[in-house]
Amino acid sequence: MIPGIHASVMGGLDKALDTLNELGLPCGQIFTSNQQQWKGRALKEREVERYSSRSVTIISHTSYLINLASTDRRVVKLSVPALEAELERMHILGINWCVLHPGAHLGAGEDEGIKKISSMAGKILLSSPADTGILFENTAGQGTTVGYSFRQLAQLLELTDMADRTGICFDTCHAFAAGYDLSSFRAVRKTMDKFNDVVGIDRIKAFHINDSKGECGSHRDRHAVTGEGLIGLEPLRFLASMPEFKEIPGISETPGTDRDRSLDIEKVVNH
Ligand SMILES: [Zn+2]
Ligand SMILES: [Zn+2]
Repeated sequence: MIPGIHASVMGGLDKALDTLNELGLPCGQIFTSNQQQWKGRALKEREVERYSSRSVTIISHTSYLINLASTDRRVVKLSVPALEAELERMHILGINWCVLHPGAHLGAGEDEGIKKISSMAGKILLSSPADTGILFENTAGQGTTVGYSFRQLAQLLELTDMADRTGICFDTCHAFAAGYDLSSFRAVRKTMDKFNDVVGIDRIKAFHINDSKGECGSHRDRHAVTGEGLIGLEPLRFLASMPEFKEIPGISETPGTDRDRSLDIEKVVNH
C-alpha cells in the first residue's frame, strides 16, 4: 500500500502538495471544492500549474452534499452538475479518481436507490472527460445509505457499466461497522476473500485506512485513531502488506491535523 493522508487545502489546493512534500508522503486525498457547499470553486492558475508538475498521486473526494439517489428532485438537480463539475476540475488538475459516497435512498428502497445512482453516474461519466472516473466508497450503512454490502457495491459497478472508469474506495472503518470483521489476520483474509468473490479485488483503487470506534456490525461511522479502535493496528498492517495492494493508495482520514494523519498512516504502512 502507498501511504497517504487526507490533506487540508486551506489556503489553496497547492497547499496540500506542500504538506505532502514536507511530510514525505507519496499520495494524498483532497477536496477540490468546499465539501459542504453546492457552489463549485474556480481553480486558480497557480493551482493548475503546481498540479501539472507534481510528483505525488492525488485523488479527490466529492462533496458530502451529493446524493444521486435522493427522492428530493432539487437535490438530484444540484447533485448532477456538482459531480460533473468535480470531474471537470479533476481533468484540469490531472486527477484520475474521485471518491463518491454512493448515496441514501431516503425510503425509496435500496434496489431503487442503487438503480438511480448507477444510471446517473453512467450518464455523467459518458459526458465527462475520459481520463476521470468515480470510486464508490463502501458505507457503514447508517440511515438509508446504500453501498454497505459487497453485493451492493458489485451492483453499483455492474449497473453503471463503465468498468474502466469506476472502482471502489474501500474504507476499513465503514466495512467493519457494516459487519465485515477486520479485527484479526484471519478476519482480514476472510473479508478480502469475500470481497474478491463478490466484487473483485482488482476493483479496489484506493483505501481509507481508518480504525473504528463503533463495533463490528454497529452501522456507526465513527473513525478512530489507528490502533485505538476496535480493529487494531496489527490487522490493518496485515491488510496494508498484502501484495495485491502494493500499488494502491492507503489514505488516513482520522480526525486531527495533517501531521496527525501522517503519523497514523505511518503506523500502518511501511512501519
Ligand atoms: Zn468518504
Ligand atoms: Zn467514515
